[in-house]
Amino acid sequence: MRQLIDRCLETVLGGGEISREDALSLFEAEGPDLVDLMAAANRIRHHFRGDAIHLCSIVNAKSGSCSEDCGFCSQSAHFDTGIPEYGFIGDDEIVAGARRAIQDGSKALGLVAAWRGLKRGPTLDRVLGAIRHLASQGGILADASLGIIEEPGIAHDLKAAGLHTYNHNLETSRRHFPKVCGTHDYDERVRTLEHLRAAGIRRCSGGIFGMGEAVEDRVDLALELRRLEVEVVPLNFLNPMEGTPLEGQEPISPMEVLKTIAVMRFLLPRQEIMIAGGREVNLRDLQPMMFIAGASATMAGAYLTTGGRKAEDDWRMIRDLGLDPGIPPQAPPARRAPSKAGAPTLPVLSAQDLA
Ligand code: SF4
Repeated sequence: MRQLIDRCLETVLGGGEISREDALSLFEAEGPDLVDLMAAANRIRHHFRGDAIHLCSIVNAKSGSCSEDCGFCSQSAHFDTGIPEYGFIGDDEIVAGARRAIQDGSKALGLVAAWRGLKRGPTLDRVLGAIRHLASQGGILADASLGIIEEPGIAHDLKAAGLHTYNHNLETSRRHFPKVCGTHDYDERVRTLEHLRAAGIRRCSGGIFGMGEAVEDRVDLALELRRLEVEVVPLNFLNPMEGTPLEGQEPISPMEVLKTIAVMRFLLPRQEIMIAGGREVNLRDLQPMMFIAGASATMAGAYLTTGGRKAEDDWRMIRDLGLDPGIPPQAPPARRAPSKAGAPTLPVLSAQDLA
C-alpha cells in the first residue's frame, strides 16, 4: 500500500491522473496506511490549492413540496418529513442571508430552491431578479442551486443576471442513481452541467456518500466529475432524515469518511473540494481531519433543513491546523456600504476578499 500511495502521489504531483483501478486500491488502505493516504492527500491539497480554506454559505430560498423523489432529501413532496414549506423568499430575506454569510466569513451565498428545475415563466423571472439583486449588493458572490436546466438559453440568462457559480450535484454514480431517485435520470443532471459550462458559469457538482453505495460508485462519480471538469466538488455525507426512505441507513464511519475525502483528492487534485452537509454528524470529533484528508473548503453556518456549527468554531479549527480561513484574526467591524433610504445594506468587502 505504501508503494501504491507513493506512486499515485508522484503521478498526481507530476500533473498526471490516477486510474480507476488505482483509486479502488487506495480505498483498501486501513490503519497506518490510511494515515499515510491522508498525509499524501494533504500534500496534494497543499500543492494545488495552497493553505487557504474557502467558506461559503447557502440560504433555503424555497423550501419543501418538491416534485422529485430523491431518497435522501427531506424536501421531497413524496415523503412526510415535517419540514417548513414556503415559496421563493423576498429580496429583504436574501439580503439578510447575505449579511449572515458575510459575518460567517463566506465569500459567496447560494440561493437554493427545492424544485425540479428552471423553465421559462414568471418563476424564472423572479429568480433572475433575485440573482440580480444579490449580485448588485456587492460584498458577496451570487451563487445558486436551482435544479435541472433543460434549455441552454436559461443558463445564459443566469450568467447575464450576475450568477457566479451554480451547484448541481450528480449525487452518486450513474449505476447507483436509479436506486436513489426515480423521477429524473442521470443524463438530465449531466446535461445541466454541460449547459452551465457552455454559458461560462462556474460549476459546483459533487455527491452524497453513505447512501448504500459501493466504493466503485464513489470512484465512478469522481471520474464523471473529472470528465466534466467541474470546478468545485461538494462532498456531502448522509445525515439520515426522519421520513425519508434513507432514514434507517447505517452511517459510514468517520475514518471511512476521511478515506473517501482523501481518494477524491487524488482523483480531483486541482478542484475545490468542499465538505458540505453531514460533516458534524458523520465526522464528529474528527472534523479537523477533513482538511488533512485533502478538503480545501467547507460550508459555513446552517444547512438547508438542519443547523451547522458556529462560524467562530470553524475559523478557530482551521487556524489551529495552520490553515487560513481568510478572516483576519481580529477583524475590525465590517464597514457598511452607504445606505439608500430604507434599503438593507451589506458590509463592503475588498477585491481581495472576493478573489
Ligand atoms: S430535486 Fe432537489 S429538492 Fe427535489 S427532492 Fe431532489 S434533492 Fe430534494
